[in-house]
Amino acid sequence: MKLKNSFFYTLRENASDEDSISSNLLVRAGMIKKSGTGSYMFMPMGYKILKNIENVVREEMNKAGAMELLMPSLIHEDVYAKSGRSETFGSSIFRLKDRYDKPYILGPTHEEMFAIAAKMKVKSYKDLPFNLYQFQNKFRDEPRPRFGLIRVREFIMKDAYSFDTDLAGLDESYEKMFNAYKNIFDRLGIDYKIVKADTGAMGGLLSEEFQAISEIGEDTLVFCEKCDFSSNDEIAECVITNLARKGEEMQMEEVHTPDSKTIEEVSAFLNIEKTQTVKALMYKADDELVACFVQGDRELNEVKLQKILGCSIMEMADDAFIAANSKAVPGFAGPIGIGCKVIIDKHIKDAVNVVVGANKADYHIKNVSIPRDVEYDLCEDITVVKAGDICPVCGGNLIFKKGIEVGNTFKLGTKYSEALDLEYSDENNKLHPVVMGSYGIGIGRTMSAIAEQCSDEKGLVWPSIIAPYKVHIVLIKDNDEEQAAAAEEIYKMLNIEGIEALLDDRKERPGVKFNDAELIGMPVRVTVGKKITEGIVEFNVRKTGEATEVKTDELLETIKETLKKV
Ligand SMILES: [Zn+2]
Repeated sequence: MKLKNSFFYTLRENASDEDSISSNLLVRAGMIKKSGTGSYMFMPMGYKILKNIENVVREEMNKAGAMELLMPSLIHEDVYAKSGRSETFGSSIFRLKDRYDKPYILGPTHEEMFAIAAKMKVKSYKDLPFNLYQFQNKFRDEPRPRFGLIRVREFIMKDAYSFDTDLAGLDESYEKMFNAYKNIFDRLGIDYKIVKADTGAMGGLLSEEFQAISEIGEDTLVFCEKCDFSSNDEIAECVITNLARKGEEMQMEEVHTPDSKTIEEVSAFLNIEKTQTVKALMYKADDELVACFVQGDRELNEVKLQKILGCSIMEMADDAFIAANSKAVPGFAGPIGIGCKVIIDKHIKDAVNVVVGANKADYHIKNVSIPRDVEYDLCEDITVVKAGDICPVCGGNLIFKKGIEVGNTFKLGTKYSEALDLEYSDENNKLHPVVMGSYGIGIGRTMSAIAEQCSDEKGLVWPSIIAPYKVHIVLIKDNDEEQAAAAEEIYKMLNIEGIEALLDDRKERPGVKFNDAELIGMPVRVTVGKKITEGIVEFNVRKTGEATEVKTDELLETIKETLKKV
């Protein structure tokens, strides 16, 4: 592409409404433009990158035996009502009505639709297995869209679905997709980690996430220094080392703690470590009040708690709900005699001589022994893992990193096939639900994650596999006949060789052209200037900053060799 007379622009100023390095650079490079909260235009060069990522994904999906199709985004609400997701997705779904007042939604993910499509083929066990996928715009009414393409309301996703007769078949299909994902992210040159995750609104048996390591990542990943333990912190188990279990059991005693409601206030007032206190957290789970207790210095993990409770809606209980359903006094809630469901974090089940709320204004109880004095309904792991905890597998130190979830894989089981009557008959004509898996990759999010990882203070640094153009030719003097002819010749040669090139033939100063080249970040830059009279051009590698002079007759070979490496 020649820049003169093309739709090419860059911005000199930072984008005031962008909140990440990648989104600011992508906007300044003229690759994307925010069109509204959480939705973006993809400009020609940005769209090319998106398509290049899509092609890598498509190649690996096809190699793994999956077949591409296309579903509608506009879906009758009934379909999601059948699976229960109209409710569990809640306000994250975009809902609308047609002219006859019939309810529709804009698809947030397509398990239901693929189950319906699969019914066209599946009758007997002989019709399985198979795997289908699509690239399609998904819609989610995110409460806080941010970081450019990373958290948006409309996005392009590759979603694949596997269909098998049994769990052993699912394991095999899952493995194929899992390996395809590794190939994809390896080929894209992303620095990523794979972690176990919560199955959340998807339901199912197992979820793993492919996380691009990045400071702006919204997920916290937990790894072991020694073994291969890795997990999203939403579900990470941990071993707490600073447990409250000091000394011999002493006599319980009520103590007056005026105005001491928070753990900070109570521990300061009684002059004890926070680890010797027990924190109460009250939740409304569906319509039940649940009192949860963790060590005073710890946070409660709501994802773990909701999974244990198996409730569909969970929120912090308000004072009125607490008062109506228990004997707890806000700020002084304790597990003894509270009069509602009690869950104890498993890490404190042996704690002795701890301080708990007395369920009485301005009073706590000290010297409480959890095994001796506390009756509870459940004892489970409900704490958030944090620095200082050790690996539950080997006892090694845990490392924390931030990640952007670029892909996920789910072993769904039969949740959707049962909801939508996707069944097959076995050898004895007995009916069984089909066993499904689902596999997603956010294409725009992957683009942003790469931009986040591959950029410097001057701009973007695209890996050659997805760069929209591999070579950026800068013509120094557009009115110098010899230079213009040489640049044109190089441009033509690259086109013949199938190497996509940009030719900056605009009437601009060299400084402007160089800055734009750094900003948009094509892997290789070839500068045609004065030395062309000696048959020499300047050759720059964006990633390494390497600058050399190359003879024009060696240029093609140098470009080919370099593109293999960057
Ligand atoms: Zn370990």
